Amino acid sequence: MTLEIAFDNSYAQDLQGLYMPWQGQEWPNPQLCLLNAPLTEALGLDPVALRSASGVGLLSGHALPDSARPLAQAYAGHQFGGFSPQLGDGRALLLGEIIDPEGARWDLHLKGSGRTPFARGGDGRAVLGPVLREYLISEAMHALGVPTTRALAVCTTGDKVLRQFGPEPGAVLARIASSHLRVGTFQFFAARGDTAKLRLLLDYAIARHDPDLTATPDAALRFLEQVGARQVQLVAQWMGLGFVHGVMNTDNTTISGETIDYGPCAFMDRYDPATVFSSVDQLGRYSYGNQPAIVIWNLARLAEALLPLIDSDEKRAIRRATDVVGRLQERYRQAWLDVFAKKLGLGVPDATVIDEMHQIWVGESVDFISFFRALPEAIDGNPQSLRALFQNPEKVGPWLARYLGCIEDPTDAIAQIRAANPIYIPRNHLVEEALHAASFKDDMAPFHALLERVRRPFEPAENAADFARPAPEDAPEIVTYCGT
Ligand code: AMP
Ligand code: MG
Repeated sequence: MTLEIAFDNSYAQDLQGLYMPWQGQEWPNPQLCLLNAPLTEALGLDPVALRSASGVGLLSGHALPDSARPLAQAYAGHQFGGFSPQLGDGRALLLGEIIDPEGARWDLHLKGSGRTPFARGGDGRAVLGPVLREYLISEAMHALGVPTTRALAVCTTGDKVLRQFGPEPGAVLARIASSHLRVGTFQFFAARGDTAKLRLLLDYAIARHDPDLTATPDAALRFLEQVGARQVQLVAQWMGLGFVHGVMNTDNTTISGETIDYGPCAFMDRYDPATVFSSVDQLGRYSYGNQPAIVIWNLARLAEALLPLIDSDEKRAIRRATDVVGRLQERYRQAWLDVFAKKLGLGVPDATVIDEMHQIWVGESVDFISFFRALPEAIDGNPQSLRALFQNPEKVGPWLARYLGCIEDPTDAIAQIRAANPIYIPRNHLVEEALHAASFKDDMAPFHALLERVRRPFEPAENAADFARPAPEDAPEIVTYCGT
């Protein structure tokens, strides 16, 4: 069985100067570890062929069909606030684009396919644990209705890769995205003062993500507005789930508005705006509570990069871009209120109820997910489980009274709450257990069990109470390491 796959290669054709043609590394013993069956089907790919030797050659990156034009993408970016004019895929390859049966275009991209010219000091490798983390969390995000890249497959390479705590199994992740264009992609040409190339990139991005802007006047400004709208909406959704991305550098902020690059990310169990999981984020720049400010900061960097395309008069360009960026704060606030109104089953957002809810959480270590799942009982007149989540349960009463006063139809509100609030998210302690068993005990069973739950986050399952519970109070704090 050979795999037939006809890649399109618009990025390679249209964006010269933004990549290096490159090949994947050869592996001692590449084996398919996971194939995302529902995604394979949605893309119109043949699962039998993907599981065959030629499929594994593709998914692990070392034996590609003729239609692929593998390349390492170049981009720039602000990492933890400091600008690097040249980053790029150090261990990743874009194989090409797949057009699905509905006509949508998807990048097929590998992570962990070996060193590229952009690898700097890196080894070009990925290891099984972090690759499985990306697979699991991106599937959970998709099921939760959050725009995200998606994992198509995981291959192990058959060799070991040295990481902080010793050798780990090498792995390659195959993922799809509606594109891999980032804020940092625009910063790449902007940093070089290459306005002609920048315009080409804008045209390309508009064709892929904002075709309604094709040939409109003020396309650059409107593009900034639309990317801004997608990104603040995305972060509002993260906030509603307690998701902490962990590395919100401008090279990890997409133009599409999809979540990308699941490194030291995790879901917060107990509410605390200062929550970070990344071992390298000592100052908490990318903490839960900072994410809204950071995404707007990143969008201001996109605005800067686009200035020469916004207006030939620099002062006017700055004024117009500043206006757009200035409105993002309000836009975010509205998106955030909408997210929490939905979680509370309120047809119309009530800012006081939502703000006060966040205030009563402070210092209480309230389990963020359990809080919302306890609301239906409280609406039914039994606030005990809700109160039990607080160290100072007397805080709940006044807020609850105000909240209940906003509910018009309790049955309706309860149905909305159950549809908007997951029972199962990838809880850190479960993720760690699953990744540890896979990486060091050759046991994928805990991973599959957890994946099954998080793919149906809103459906109560039998004998699955352990998946819904937070980590025990005395569980060790989870830290994730960036050297993924
Ligand atoms: P990330 O934080 O995963 O988005 O990665 C930031 C940058 O570092 C990207 O340009 C990656 O390609 C690069 N990078 C991360 N890990 C490695 C590695 N092991 N080898 C080479 N490059 C890497
Ligand atoms: Mg990245």
